[in-house]
Amino acid sequence: MAAVGEKTTRRRVSTSILAAMALVHTMCGSAAAQEKPAVSKDIIVTLLGTGGPEPTPTRFGPATLVQAGGLSLLFDAGRGVTVRLYQLGMSSGKGIDAVFLTHYHSDHVSGLPDLWMTGYMFGPFGERAKPMRLFGPSEGSSVPNGVTRIAKGLAEAFSDDVSIRQTDEHITAAATQIETHDFHGDGVVFDEAGVKVTAFAVNHGDLIKPSVGYRIDYGSRSVAISGDTKFDENLIKHAAGTDLLIHEVFATSAQLAELPQMKPVADHHTSPEQAGAVFSRVKPKLAAYSHVLHLGISSDEIASRTRSAYQGPLIVGEDLTRFIIGDDVIVRKWNPELRRYPD
Ligand SMILES: [Zn+2]
Ligand SMILES: [Zn+2]
Repeated sequence: MAAVGEKTTRRRVSTSILAAMALVHTMCGSAAAQEKPAVSKDIIVTLLGTGGPEPTPTRFGPATLVQAGGLSLLFDAGRGVTVRLYQLGMSSGKGIDAVFLTHYHSDHVSGLPDLWMTGYMFGPFGERAKPMRLFGPSEGSSVPNGVTRIAKGLAEAFSDDVSIRQTDEHITAAATQIETHDFHGDGVVFDEAGVKVTAFAVNHGDLIKPSVGYRIDYGSRSVAISGDTKFDENLIKHAAGTDLLIHEVFATSAQLAELPQMKPVADHHTSPEQAGAVFSRVKPKLAAYSHVLHLGISSDEIASRTRSAYQGPLIVGEDLTRFIIGDDVIVRKWNPELRRYPD
């Protein structure tokens, strides 16, 4: 009887905690940011994190949410991705249909364990019923079987949490599993509900392979995400004519550029002038910077330096900047005081 009583008490407590969490979730989330937007012809892209390795509160780690055809696809899972999803009123579990990684630098994957484990918990921020679907490149000698190896490592590293929550909270085994999809070379890696995801190799440096960008097509709409890359012809080829091009950028002041330790970093990334040259060739309806690494210079300076090679539409993205890709690309800036996008 004692066991039954304990169980009943625990369930009551759990129920009240969940009710409280749901209330908080509703307060933090936004009616405008529905977990599953109505299926339309548009693609909705939200920059969840626009920074790099630096643990700054203003730019979380790289992560981009692409919603189309009733699907919510996440590209990279940098630091703080679960927090940004929560701000949108989205679950890290049932809210995400698939996760795609560009490469295995820590800033792009450090939020993945959190996404995975928070996603299988009870509560409105979790409740994933099926395995988390994880896609990533696997070629080159340095990282064989990229996402499969990560999934095995996560299962091993966090086996205590998995087993405790399965026995204590009766979370299903399926919810704690990761379904891995390693892919090789350029090509379509995902094609569901009219949403096609194409991966293409990018040049992040000779030692950082594999490293890819992605293009997402839905009907006549499209968005390309550079991943981390230097100026790259293969990116220009695959992104050509896309509606929205989200590109990384690295820029320092002239003084910092003289430091010897800056050279290897600069060698792995794209300068504003080089990105301008890319944008001039791709000719997107809108070019947007994310993975914004700027040391000693402002966002405005990044934009003005880009202008030396590109005169078209350009925005330096911020966390939670949203793009609605219809006939035109509409930009929505998150209002932190209202905790939603302005009407
Ligand atoms: Zn990076
Ligand atoms: Zn990188």
